[in-house]
Amino acid sequence: MSPEQIMLIPKIENGFVLDHIPTGSGVKVLNLIRGHAELNESVISVGLHYTSRRLGRKDLIKIQSRELPQRFLQHLSLVVPGVTIKRVENYAVAQKIVLEPPELVDNLLSCPNPGCITNHERGVTTCFHLVRREPMKFRCNHCERRFALSELENRLKL
Ligand SMILES: [Zn+2]
Repeated sequence: MSPEQIMLIPKIENGFVLDHIPTGSGVKVLNLIRGHAELNESVISVGLHYTSRRLGRKDLIKIQSRELPQRFLQHLSLVVPGVTIKRVENYAVAQKIVLEPPELVDNLLSCPNPGCITNHERGVTTCFHLVRREPMKFRCNHCERRFALSELENRLKL
């Protein structure tokens, strides 16, 4: 076993591993977990700055939870698009998915445009459409402005 492997955070019996998080984004994911009350009781292990063949360096987070809330997954796909989620059962990976942002982002974000009606009228929900993949752009349904993902990731409605 290489020294790198020995330093890995312990295996979990049941839960989820969020893998291939670009290094530096692990902290953003932790903040997101804190924002979702359903996960507040879950045991979380965090590994930062692992070497990765794909990313050079990566962060990794393990969540001991029976399930991950749908809204958390949608937010996660906006904070770290392309993150790999492994579901672990009895210490083995039972399922693996790569999480991509949704085509339709329904009431998950507030609009960065201060003049947008969604920031002024109560009860108006936001809706963004994915209009471009490389680089990723979303359009607000109400003010029709386009935003890069980096402009939206701190606008999450938790
Ligand atoms: Zn808008």
